[in-house]
Amino acid sequence: MAEAKDNKLEKITSWSKRRGFIFPGSEIYGGLGGVYDFGPYGTALKNNIKKLWWKTFVEDREDVVGIDSSILMNRAVWQASGHEGGFTDELVECKKCHKRFKADDMPEEKCPQGGEHELTEPKAFNGMFKTFVGVTQNDDAQTYLRPETAQGMFVDFKSVLETSRKKLPFGIAQMGKCFRNEINTKDFLFRVREFEIAEIEYFIKPGEDEKAFDMWLENWEKFVTSLGIKPENLKHYEHPKEGLSHYSKRTVDIQYNYPFGWKELTGLANRTDFDLKAHAQASGKDLQYFDTESNEKYFPYVVEPTLGIERLMLAIICDAFEELEPRTETTEAVTEKEIVLHFDPRLAPVKIAVLPLMKKLSEDARKIYDDLKSCFGGIEYDESGSIGKRYRRQDEIGTPFCVTVDFDTIEKDQCVTVRDRDTMKQERIAIKDLKNFFFEKLV
Ligand code: ATP
Repeated sequence: MAEAKDNKLEKITSWSKRRGFIFPGSEIYGGLGGVYDFGPYGTALKNNIKKLWWKTFVEDREDVVGIDSSILMNRAVWQASGHEGGFTDELVECKKCHKRFKADDMPEEKCPQGGEHELTEPKAFNGMFKTFVGVTQNDDAQTYLRPETAQGMFVDFKSVLETSRKKLPFGIAQMGKCFRNEINTKDFLFRVREFEIAEIEYFIKPGEDEKAFDMWLENWEKFVTSLGIKPENLKHYEHPKEGLSHYSKRTVDIQYNYPFGWKELTGLANRTDFDLKAHAQASGKDLQYFDTESNEKYFPYVVEPTLGIERLMLAIICDAFEELEPRTETTEAVTEKEIVLHFDPRLAPVKIAVLPLMKKLSEDARKIYDDLKSCFGGIEYDESGSIGKRYRRQDEIGTPFCVTVDFDTIEKDQCVTVRDRDTMKQERIAIKDLKNFFFEKLV
């Protein structure tokens, strides 16, 4: 069973490269560990996920505002937040093969020198990437690439509060690049060194935090399943009290059943008033909230739902990926299995492919393509190869609909054939009704 599952990850990795979704970063120079580039389809898929997240949690809500804070922050931020002293993993090294591992995540493999690994005592290793601001590379110029976006929301809390004129409870959301110098990168997009986090800091009156936590856990899970992830592939992991981070009163992970096992896809933490208090103390600025109803000043509590975009993208791909016996007729004898990606139409990189049956029909097909393109993003035009081969190509990148233009379209009925990726059902639709037809399916 485990073998078949690992094999699925291998298949996905090779499919994603072959189809222009995800490539190893700096590949022509031999790559860079734990860094990936997104190709044209991968970028479209990622952007569609991010757009939906932003729409769901910022645009559609009255109690959340979005910001975009910088990746580089004053080093004092990381000192106050506890990251400089405490964002560490336990590092061990095998004395025989000199490979390094995260102490709490040892692989099952044997030592390549023979037998078990012979490990050194664990040593603390800070996971932040160091960098220098300006031309002098000394201690005063040093800071870090952010390992999370949360601190930007705490540091900007007062400015956002004053300018947005929000009252508790309200949230600040942002999404952006984060960097972690992971000891071992593995499992494709799951553990990488450069990735994007989408998270919300939801500020509430102390005492209302537990209810808010439950509300966000429900919202977060609903969002993930709304993207097509099967509920049976998700479960909660409640962190035991003694294992909680220094700032957390409660942490729950939502785990996904990845091909390599149940692992954290996303998490929620009750960060209490830890961060605002720590930054108020270190900066000397008043970061308290004045409650006009009770006439009191206090540090709000914070519930933080956080989500790694790459881990979500990998889960979406794993759930959408299917390998089938050949189901589409082609003029060539095709024996290898057919791959179909069952992406939710809102996420699919290409939403509609316009395919003229013969090159002679290209002028009319192009008109349909231009018309659809002006209305929906992600439309592709393809006239090369047999129609069966073109259908397979679109199935393999998860295009939900293909529009085929044939001689009847022009000579008889002004209709096209719309093929559904999942059911393979084909419907004749009048060209004049096409936009409405797709509006219902795609928007
Ligand atoms: P883990 O225990 O797996 O290292 P974490 O508990 O350190 O993860 P958080 O600090 O809660 O993770 O990070 C927020 C989110 O960022 C996680 O829920 C996950 O989706 C994502 N994430 C964290 N580390 C990585 C990584 N190295 N690569 C890709 N995504 C990551």
